[in-house]
Amino acid sequence: LKAPLYADVAGDLDVSFEFFPPKSEKMEEQLWEAVRTLEPLGPSFVSVTYGAGGSTRERTHATVARIQRETSLAAAAHLTCVEATKAEIDEVAQGYWAAGVRHIVALRGDSPNAGAFVSHPGGYENAAALVAGLKRLHPFEISVAAYPECHPDSVSVEADIDNLKAKIDAGATRAITQFFHEPETFFRYRDKVAAAGITAEIVPGIMPVTNFASVVRMSKMCGTEVPAWMARLFDGLEDHPAARQLIAATLAAELSRKLYAGGVKALHFYTLNKAELSFAICHLLGVRSKPVANAAAA
Ligand code: FAD
Repeated sequence: LKAPLYADVAGDLDVSFEFFPPKSEKMEEQLWEAVRTLEPLGPSFVSVTYGAGGSTRERTHATVARIQRETSLAAAAHLTCVEATKAEIDEVAQGYWAAGVRHIVALRGDSPNAGAFVSHPGGYENAAALVAGLKRLHPFEISVAAYPECHPDSVSVEADIDNLKAKIDAGATRAITQFFHEPETFFRYRDKVAAAGITAEIVPGIMPVTNFASVVRMSKMCGTEVPAWMARLFDGLEDHPAARQLIAATLAAELSRKLYAGGVKALHFYTLNKAELSFAICHLLGVRSKPVANAAAA
């Protein structure tokens, strides 16, 4: 695949950023620094995750509502249906609508203690049912999750893609992928999704790798392959955090540039609430700061 030089990337990418809700005042400061640093890049939206089984319900709401209220950004709230009744989920969604939040990232979530997923007797049985339930409440814009290397609970790749189709048919407009490490993984998946008649946008989720050991752990949990070359690249960098940052930016920018060369026009960055890496990668991809419009004073 012939990728353009960085200087030739047109800067016409749509980017979005994912944050997690802060647990302490110090983490809140870091989050807001990240939000303010990335805001001028004009992302199409920023999203805030929902802790396992709704454990961050209030914090996610507070963070999303504040972003929506105090910045120029369109905030999206992640919402999972595991361990909750339909009435509880609907109440959370109503709260978002009332706060002016119009975009939900609708997810099933995972059962606690890494056991097999069990739906709540009074709840939504999976993400597709959640999407349909949210759409009945309000005309939310809805994004869902997609798995280039297949979700571990899926009996087959075909079943996983059928499940994605069910989520789109229920009213989602976009899917954001689990992270992956090689562009071919995404392209193969995109071809299969297209062959299944899915026309909704599939946005690659980009995870800049700074802590190799933790990425290996996460990759194992979600069935993402870690290429051997990546292990060799991080070998010997355990005590060199600054070098790891530089390598993380290089790798994520390379992955993004190859995706762009393959026709990808939108990328979603897992920021882990740190702005500089995502900012640097976007800069390499030609995404530049613009004056922030209509930002209310914080
Ligand atoms: P679903 O799409 O409902 O399905 C998951 C799997 O189950 C699929 O393989 C599907 O084939 C299978 N399946 C679904 N329905 C059926 C059925 N009726 N019968 C048989 N099989 C079925 N987790 C959080 O806790 N909080 C977050 O904020 C969060 N954000 C995420 C953001 C992104 C972009 C991604 C990719 C994941 C995120 N996750 C989050 C993780 C997600 O909750 C897990 O991956 C979870 O295991 C699956 O959620 P889903 O919405 O993909 O589930």
